[in-house]
Amino acid sequence: MRVIKLSIFLLTACCFFAEAQQYVLRNVNVIPMDQETVLKQRDVLIKDGLIESLVPYSKAATHSGYEVIEGNGRYLIPGLADMHMHFLADDRIADEYRKDELLVPLKYGVLRGRVPIGNPGLLRDKGKITGGQLLGPSLLVGSPQLAGVNFSAVFSGSLVKSFQEGYDAVKRYSEQGYSFIKITFGLNEEAYRGIVKAGEDFNIPIAGHVPVAIKIREAIKAGQDVEHLDQYMDAILKEDSPTKTGLSAFGIFQKKSWATMNFIDAQKVEELIALTVDAGIWNTPTNHFFISSFARFIPEDVLSAGPSYSLVSPEVRTELLDYRDRYWSESAEKELREKYVEMRSYLIREIFRKNGRILAGSDSPEWLNLYGYALHQELENFVNVVGLTPYEALQTATTKPSEYMNTPNIGMVRVGQKAELVLLKANPLSDIRNIRDVDGVMLNGKWLSKEKLDQLYQQAKQSIQKAPLRSEFKR
Ligand SMILES: [Zn+2]
Repeated sequence: MRVIKLSIFLLTACCFFAEAQQYVLRNVNVIPMDQETVLKQRDVLIKDGLIESLVPYSKAATHSGYEVIEGNGRYLIPGLADMHMHFLADDRIADEYRKDELLVPLKYGVLRGRVPIGNPGLLRDKGKITGGQLLGPSLLVGSPQLAGVNFSAVFSGSLVKSFQEGYDAVKRYSEQGYSFIKITFGLNEEAYRGIVKAGEDFNIPIAGHVPVAIKIREAIKAGQDVEHLDQYMDAILKEDSPTKTGLSAFGIFQKKSWATMNFIDAQKVEELIALTVDAGIWNTPTNHFFISSFARFIPEDVLSAGPSYSLVSPEVRTELLDYRDRYWSESAEKELREKYVEMRSYLIREIFRKNGRILAGSDSPEWLNLYGYALHQELENFVNVVGLTPYEALQTATTKPSEYMNTPNIGMVRVGQKAELVLLKANPLSDIRNIRDVDGVMLNGKWLSKEKLDQLYQQAKQSIQKAPLRSEFKR
């Protein structure tokens, strides 16, 4: 009986992607992302999950044996990657809901996700997605967090306080198959040194927050990748700043820290940018999350009109917005908040333009920035707030992630690339908001039409809405 059950499972499992599919996307405008251009009116042939050829469109061409998807002059871009995302099932709701959460980003053309703070369930799901047994974006899973203090209701990770504990934790997570090591808060210097040494010994990148005990310059020199531009705002302050705690990590919640925005040392800013670029470290600023959370308040009626609001149950929503409500009950002056927006934008833009390494990440689902949609908001932020061009913004979610992951066969629309594609109604290079109109995606070489994506989304929504908040989060 057990054997039969297993074979039925394998039969079902194999069939997401089983049929040898050949497709032609007919008459599409291709944005290849290897240069800023539009290849007008192409037929894109796809075979065995790879882009086989890109030929000029001709009405007469039959492409026999290929399933035809009519492009009608719509725009084809590479699949988008959200390089900093989490799931509610990581902590706030039960693990079993992740399979539903994974369906949501697809509707937004987000076909890859980098997940800091991993767990064994995420690693399993990553394998199932690769094997075609589960539908969702391809995942890059970071380790459970390494921290010096336990600060969360459900702590997934290791507390490390010495060189050896740090070293051993990295070795263990590396052996378990995580793709990078995620560090969060409260690490002391010895533990940090152990982590960095093991990162070198086991050839696994270290990423995350920057320990206050280390500071950003040391972290950059150690080759750490940085999430949220953590500790940058503290490292650019003049010596006579009234408070030494700037707007990084927990400092941002303290109103008095905001006065530091009047004490920025322009020379330190330039030195830090140069140091970042020269070291070649990766920065995932999650800028929309920070600007919308701490600098430019989004009123409840705007929030409730967006897709995230109704995707979760009222109790999960309340939990996600709790910190936001507490922060905004006593926020800093607008002038200081706008200086913060300007400073972050300047850092991101200058690092990017000087050939530094910037990735698009949403920090979904924090503070109700939910998956997929939140990545669009990050790309729109990169254009409208940071000042990148739409092409540059798209690079941070396509070619740059490919460079980060060292996977040269994804992130572009070119012959030989993996068929991981998004069809858009209109040209995102002329207006970045056009990434919102997804008309279908090619995932693992299989076509998912807009109707199919909507159906999967509704199915996911019905399930996620019913997920109760885990008791550890109830107050
Ligand atoms: Zn995060």
